[in-house]
Amino acid sequence: MKEELAAVAAAARECRACPLWAPATQTVFGEGPAPARVMLVGEQPGDQEDLAGRPFVGPAGRLLDRALTEAGLDRRRVYVTNAVKHFKFQPRGKRRLHQKPSTGEIVACVPWLERERALVEPAIIILLGATAARSVLRRNVAIARERGRLIPLEGGGAALVTVHPSYLLRLRDEEERHAAFAAFVADLRIAKEALG
Ligand code: SF4
Repeated sequence: MKEELAAVAAAARECRACPLWAPATQTVFGEGPAPARVMLVGEQPGDQEDLAGRPFVGPAGRLLDRALTEAGLDRRRVYVTNAVKHFKFQPRGKRRLHQKPSTGEIVACVPWLERERALVEPAIIILLGATAARSVLRRNVAIARERGRLIPLEGGGAALVTVHPSYLLRLRDEEERHAAFAAFVADLRIAKEALG
């Protein structure tokens, strides 16, 4: 499985299926064990991930690591990836400001995620935010309404929707941030408990 996944990752480096490849530094493919019981799907690589070529290595990734640990999930046993494999941004001076991928870009990238899923064979896919949920569930998802419960998936396994950790980073009020982090960990615990 590992070798097949490496071959798919190499093919994804040449992908030109949507315009996002051009301004980005590189394709950021998923990483982690295969097979794995848990697969985590985020939105797209951020500024640091684009430069490093690895998913979830920036501030949101560090927050995710902390939440996984609190929920009793070992990141080393989790396959981590994004719905969209190139960083979408708007240049602003020396900074690159994150931009949300369009539905067309999400759909264009679905085949890569499907190939990852087929090789990782997760029992549970944790969907971090609306883009990941749109990509896997193929419909618009209201996170607040659907978070924290297992949704059976066609082809086996289940999905669990929750927030993206970058949402927590944007909260300015400390109390609100604390409560949102606790709710995020509670969602992750549901996945942990379902695994037994
Ligand atoms: S974002 Fe996805 S579909 Fe678009 S070029 Fe990159 S890998 Fe291909």
